[in-house]
Amino acid sequence: MTMGVDAGMNVRDAGERFPVLVALYDFYDQYTTRFQSACGPGCSTCCTWNVTSTSLEADYLLEILDADARRRISQALPRPGGPVWYRPTVTINETAACFLAMRDPPEDRGIHTQGRCPFLDDHDLCKVYERRPFACRAMSSRNRCEEEGEALMDPFLLSVSLAVYQILEDMDAVGCTGNLIDLLVKEVTPGDTQRPFLIENRPLPGFLVEPAHERDFAAFLAGLREATGLRYGEKR
Ligand code: SF4
Repeated sequence: MTMGVDAGMNVRDAGERFPVLVALYDFYDQYTTRFQSACGPGCSTCCTWNVTSTSLEADYLLEILDADARRRISQALPRPGGPVWYRPTVTINETAACFLAMRDPPEDRGIHTQGRCPFLDDHDLCKVYERRPFACRAMSSRNRCEEEGEALMDPFLLSVSLAVYQILEDMDAVGCTGNLIDLLVKEVTPGDTQRPFLIENRPLPGFLVEPAHERDFAAFLAGLREATGLRYGEKR
């Protein structure tokens, strides 16, 4: 069962958003140290072509990528006719809005495929670790997923991570969501042909929280407000 929680809209100027984004990343990274995790340096099972991002996060990563770096990413991709990486067709806030209205959400027609993230180095370490998007930070498993076939995530950590996905989309409500690679190479792709694969972000319709998690979730939001200045969940 799910329920809505007071959302608290946060419309901010573009210039304000990177420091807030970094504060949100830092808070999440610190908060999640309390959960058991088998993930660590050199573990790259989830570092694939299928990573998603908001345009805000991609812009933050693009800050450290020059035109050559973006061109190399573009050249590492399969040629037309090759495998197509995961391209989401529904955003998390669109899905949440449907659940909160007791409607079935649209089907996500994106297809996951094989492919190594172009930011992995020869030692399976991330070359852009400090700037990696939230989708990378949220990938966490109690077990070694390459040994047991799938990741196992703490249910409350899953709720918290979904909420942060929603907040990131809301912070970037004038932007879009898509595959990280599509967002990064869009400026070096002739004719901007990758753009059709990006979907418009939506404002936060409310959070999806299991009733059993409500108290801990409220405490999480209170910590987030204190650490970032974002007002989500604030009673007004
Ligand atoms: S950006 Fe870094 S952490 Fe994210 S999938 Fe690529 S290599 Fe892995």
